[in-house]
Amino acid sequence: MPTALAVGLKCRECGHEYADAPKNVCEHDFAPLEVNYDYDAIRKSLTRESIGKRAFNMWRYKELLPEQEPVSGLTTGGTPLVHAKNLGRELGVKNLYVKFDGVCQPTLSFKDRVVAVSIARARRFGFTTVGCASTGNLANSVAAQAAQAGLKAIILIPKDLEPAKVANTQIYGATLVKIDGPYDDVNRLCSEIANDAKIGIVNVNLRPYYAEGSKSMGFEIAEQLGWRAPDNIICPMAGGSLINKLSKSFKEFEKLSLLEAAPKTKFWGAQAAGCNPITDAIKRRSDLIKPVKKPDTIARSIAIGNPADGYFAARLCLDSGGGGDDVTDAEIIEAMKLLARTEGLFTETAGGVTLGVFVKLLKAGRINKDESTVVCITGQGLKTLDPLYAPGVLPDAPVIKPTLAAFKDLKIA
Ligand SMILES: *Cc1c(COP(=O)(O)O)cnc(C)c1O
Ligand SMILES: [Zn+2]
Repeated sequence: MPTALAVGLKCRECGHEYADAPKNVCEHDFAPLEVNYDYDAIRKSLTRESIGKRAFNMWRYKELLPEQEPVSGLTTGGTPLVHAKNLGRELGVKNLYVKFDGVCQPTLSFKDRVVAVSIARARRFGFTTVGCASTGNLANSVAAQAAQAGLKAIILIPKDLEPAKVANTQIYGATLVKIDGPYDDVNRLCSEIANDAKIGIVNVNLRPYYAEGSKSMGFEIAEQLGWRAPDNIICPMAGGSLINKLSKSFKEFEKLSLLEAAPKTKFWGAQAAGCNPITDAIKRRSDLIKPVKKPDTIARSIAIGNPADGYFAARLCLDSGGGGDDVTDAEIIEAMKLLARTEGLFTETAGGVTLGVFVKLLKAGRINKDESTVVCITGQGLKTLDPLYAPGVLPDAPVIKPTLAAFKDLKIA
């Protein structure tokens, strides 16, 4: 039974409409398909009052999602927006907020949002097996939520992912296949599998539904800011989907008259220097993406060389008056430490990219320090410990005899 509020799919380029189906590109121009909504119907049931009566998780905004009855990920979303006063003081920015998606999620990354929607849709389409091409976090989330929903999961990853991302997939009983090649090879293979086998691949044939789940992060940010969109938002980019959906979320809230003022957000995209196809285009003030053949960065979760939504992400950053930049592995680790030291928040490497890029943009005078800014931290540091184990990254703790004299000798207190 289709939901009454989400009405099929629509091509992002030519506007051609399609009935709901496990399908992600337009037959006419191969442009991506998006979920289409009946906003007049939604306006009747989605108000600040109705939202306020619901539990604080992503399903609070269910009318603006293509699925309204989750079969997994029931407690996904509802993550904190931290007013980062210590970090802001250090950087000289007053209205600084950190949206921390590394907690309050089944598998501790923003990917739980997209998976909750796509697993529900997979069940509705009658799939008994789901899968994904993943850089790590998606694998964890699909594995966990498929287990919850009683579906079989087949997950493909590049063969050299972080051990924590591998263990966090296999523990749920998912079938994991390691591919000898970078993520783009994994993704291409998954597209071939989706055409051939009856598998609901969440980020391939279910991608239009999957991507909508990201909007819930933007809805939460706007509500948490008192029904306002921020002046600036810094977002990590892998395939470039999340940043576009944040923009869509503010526009939809505006369309439904839920905001105090029309959104004028400048979008700033963040990537790692070792895999920067989108920020490279933005820096050339172009939307022409040149794929990166061999990504090389500790920010594995966002290392996608040929980003599916790269064109739209570059356009959004340029057209909104924002921009983008990228940071080295050393800058990523510095930023991870900075966030932990000032706010007590432990981000995975991807969040180090986001904060590192924010610091870089501030130093270059490109972000107005008097404006409100939200830094999106999309995953949990406990999943990417490996780079922190490298010599010299964290101090060697002294080992002493269990005596007060030995402690006093350290002269630390
Ligand atoms: C997947 C992912 C992103 C961004 O994904 P998009 O493909 O750009 O939507 C950002 N951060 C983390 C930690 C991720 O796992
Ligand atoms: Zn089309």
